[in-house]
Amino acid sequence: MIGFSFDNINNVLCLGAHSDDIEIGCGGTLLRLARQRPDIKVTWVVFSGKGARASEAKASAQTFLHGIKKSKIILKQFRVSFFPFEGKAIKDYFEILKRLPQPDLIFTHYRDDRHQDHRVLSDFAWNTWRNHLVLEYEVPKYDGDLGVPNVFVPVPEDLCREKVDNLCRFFRTQNNKHWFASETFLGLMRLRGMECASPTNYAEAFYCRKLVLE
Ligand SMILES: [Zn+2]
Repeated sequence: MIGFSFDNINNVLCLGAHSDDIEIGCGGTLLRLARQRPDIKVTWVVFSGKGARASEAKASAQTFLHGIKKSKIILKQFRVSFFPFEGKAIKDYFEILKRLPQPDLIFTHYRDDRHQDHRVLSDFAWNTWRNHLVLEYEVPKYDGDLGVPNVFVPVPEDLCREKVDNLCRFFRTQNNKHWFASETFLGLMRLRGMECASPTNYAEAFYCRKLVLE
């Protein structure tokens, strides 16, 4: 299949509700971008996390962004699990983000994600950026909300393993969760790689609702 490239992408915005979401959803893609396009700018925003979770988020984001020359990490402290009820404050913050230089590509949560915090960020991303390329990433969970994504980014196996190793290394507070396991993350990337006939066998997958061809 003919592929589109990251050649036109210079400014990437990543939005994640919780400390580990961006890494789980698009960490492999970002590692690939760091290898392929270290000259891009990445703004990485985590909307919740206090104490240990904030420390984990910062250390992990710095590691994932290590190869990117220009990056900015923003950690907010909106209340976990209560995003629908903190909507006004979060929406106000999106108005601040809107003033940043225009992103070429926005990574956010899947619109139909069953986690309420994830859905709020997905909806606000679409409300805020009205003429932009948005890719919605997936986060496996107990609720079983994985769907049928339509954009695939093949990721080299060594970067998949780096992503998973980083997740397990940095997010120690999550290690007691039954789903937070290297097999979960690697298995999902292997399945998505199979679905797109990835030359590396692995891929991350996204939902794209609008794409303009020139
Ligand atoms: Zn999350």
